[in-house]
Amino acid sequence: MFIEISPEVYLIEPPNGGKFPHCFCIYIDGEQKILIDTSCGAENLLALQKKGVDIIINTHFHEDHIFNNHHFPTASVWAHKLDAAAIRSLDVFMDCYGDIFDAQNLWREFLDDIKLKPSPVHRELAGGETLDLGPWQLKVVHTPGHTPGHIGLWEEKYGVLVSADIDLSGFGPWYGHLCSNISDFLTSIELCRQMKPRTMISAHKGLIEQDIDRKLLAYRDVILTKEEQVLDFLKEPKNFSQLVSRQIFYGQRIKLDELYKWFEKMAIYQHLIRLESLGLVNHSGDTYYRI
Ligand SMILES: [Zn+2]
Repeated sequence: MFIEISPEVYLIEPPNGGKFPHCFCIYIDGEQKILIDTSCGAENLLALQKKGVDIIINTHFHEDHIFNNHHFPTASVWAHKLDAAAIRSLDVFMDCYGDIFDAQNLWREFLDDIKLKPSPVHRELAGGETLDLGPWQLKVVHTPGHTPGHIGLWEEKYGVLVSADIDLSGFGPWYGHLCSNISDFLTSIELCRQMKPRTMISAHKGLIEQDIDRKLLAYRDVILTKEEQVLDFLKEPKNFSQLVSRQIFYGQRIKLDELYKWFEKMAIYQHLIRLESLGLVNHSGDTYYRI
C-alpha cells in the first residue's frame, strides 16, 4: 500500500507490519522515480515495476533493505561508500556479518536460504551531501553503528528524518555483526536527537510523529541497560561462553537457533569491545574481568 506523506512522496507499507525480512520503503514520484530501500513485499514490488524506478537509494547493505534491487536492472543504485562493497559482493557481505565464531557455513546457508542477489552500486554517497530528488531535497546523514555505512536521509523543509534501522523498535538497537559498532550507534542516535525531526520514518515501524525524543532516549537506553547487565555479570570474572549463555542481548526467555546464538555471541562481543575501549573491562585469554 502506498500512503502519500507529502506531495508526490509515498510511504510504502510492507507486509507483516514491516518486520524482517521486509521494511518500509519510500517512493518519490517526481520527474525522476526514486525508491528508498527495496524490501517492500511482492505486491508492492509489482506496483513499483509498473510505475518504474530510476534511482534506488539503499540506507545500508542489509538483506532486508536491498532484497529487490535486482528487479530494477536499469535503475541507478546509490548507497554510502562504506556499505557499497557489501551490496556489490556477497563475499564482502559475509565478511561484514563476521568471519569469526565458525560462521562461514552459517552465512552461506543463510544466503542460499533467502536467495539474496548482489546488486551494483553506481553512486557512492557521503555524509553531508544533499540529493535533489525533485519534491524532496534529502541530506545524507551518516549514522554508523548498525552498519558502517548506514545512512539517514533528512528533509529539512518537512522536518522528516528517514532513520532506517535506527528504527525505534521495542527490541532496541541491533548490533550483532562484526561490522557493527555500539559507540558509533550511540553517537548516531544522539545525532538523530539533535536534528529534532517532526517525523521519523523507521524502516520497521513506519511513520513516527509523537514523542520522538523520548522514544530515541528509550531506544538508546536499551543499549546502556544491556551494557550495565554485562558489567554487573562481570562482578566476578567470566569466560566468554559464560557471558554469552546469559543471553543479555536477546533475553533469557527466547530459545535461540544456531543463527541467533551466533548473533548473541557477536552482540556480547561488541559490548566487550566497547567496555574495553572505555577502560572498564579487560581480558586475559578467554576470561573477562572488570578493572
Ligand atoms: Zn539493518
